[in-house]
Amino acid sequence: MKKDYYEILGVKKDAGVDEIKKAYRKLALKYHPDKGGGAEAEAKFKEINEAYQILSDPEKRKAYDQFGSTDPSGGFNWQQYQQQAGQGYAGGFEGFDFGDLGGFGDIFETFFGGGGGRSRARRGADLETAITVDFKDAVFGTETNIKLNKHFECEKCGGSGAEKGAEMVECKVCHGAGKTQTTRRTILGAFAQTAICEECQGQGKVPKVPCSVCKGKGIVKTGKEVKVKIPAGVDDGQTIRLSGLGEAMKGGATGDLYVHIRVRPDDKIKREGYNLMNTAVISFAEAAIGTVIEVPTVDGNVKLKIPAGTQSEKVFKLSGKGVPHLGGGKRGDHLVTIKVRVPEKLTKKQKELLEEFAKEEGKEKPKFWPF
Ligand SMILES: [Zn+2]
Ligand SMILES: [Zn+2]
Repeated sequence: MKKDYYEILGVKKDAGVDEIKKAYRKLALKYHPDKGGGAEAEAKFKEINEAYQILSDPEKRKAYDQFGSTDPSGGFNWQQYQQQAGQGYAGGFEGFDFGDLGGFGDIFETFFGGGGGRSRARRGADLETAITVDFKDAVFGTETNIKLNKHFECEKCGGSGAEKGAEMVECKVCHGAGKTQTTRRTILGAFAQTAICEECQGQGKVPKVPCSVCKGKGIVKTGKEVKVKIPAGVDDGQTIRLSGLGEAMKGGATGDLYVHIRVRPDDKIKREGYNLMNTAVISFAEAAIGTVIEVPTVDGNVKLKIPAGTQSEKVFKLSGKGVPHLGGGKRGDHLVTIKVRVPEKLTKKQKELLEEFAKEEGKEKPKFWPF
């Protein structure tokens, strides 16, 4: 699959600039996307343009002649060549510089997605907004109302733009075709460019009596509360996409709404990914004897048994009490870290008891670790 640009354009290796240009024109016309040759022709058209891009430029052609055949991928990488040659090269290549062909680059973009139009579905613009949700609502998901100021489909006519029962008549602008045509003259000849008729939005028909609310537009700009679903497991800083809540458009699909999520922190629980966690401070006596504590979790208080002899910094896991994974039922865990509190003040009675305890425990030398 080696790309030979001379072969692609069907010219000899010593072909002159005029000959290359002539060959290019002939092939570009033959495989032009406007001729309806499908994906294969489109690919061929791109290839022809790529070949012309290189061979019509004396510097690029020279580089291609010299290095082109050594590229194992078959293509000629101008930028890579520039890097190897130790020269800086800014832009130009990716953008298909048609320079002296005037205007053709513009057309090219129109056909390959730059200018939009050809077979792209009509669609309203996407919108974005931000909301703040409570900690537990982010964990378990919720439904909330968001006020949107945008174009909605007209409720009266259901987006048709017609008054109820109104007769549909042929659009005067496109005469029922739904499309308008303009002719563009380029070096490759004249091209007919088609666009969707703005008047009838491509439907070819317009209502004889337009809807009294939207004046025939099919959409109405207004502020309205919409109910949105916040999925379980969503986290602070994430963005969710709600399809069909962007700008409405007559004769096209409604855009999407991107919602940036902020989560209000909880005063007892923190979140790390799908795990939830908090710290429980217990007395040193409880840690020594053992106890049962109540841990606040997103499922309410959960009893946790602290066994006798529990040390400070010990972590207990409440399995499955964490955050549900987005789009799946599995839940993370809730981790409880124990901190053992040493009393700073003692009553007379406590002091007596602890002195008794110390005597019973016996004198112990402190142990040292290197950390
Ligand atoms: Zn029309
Ligand atoms: Zn209406």
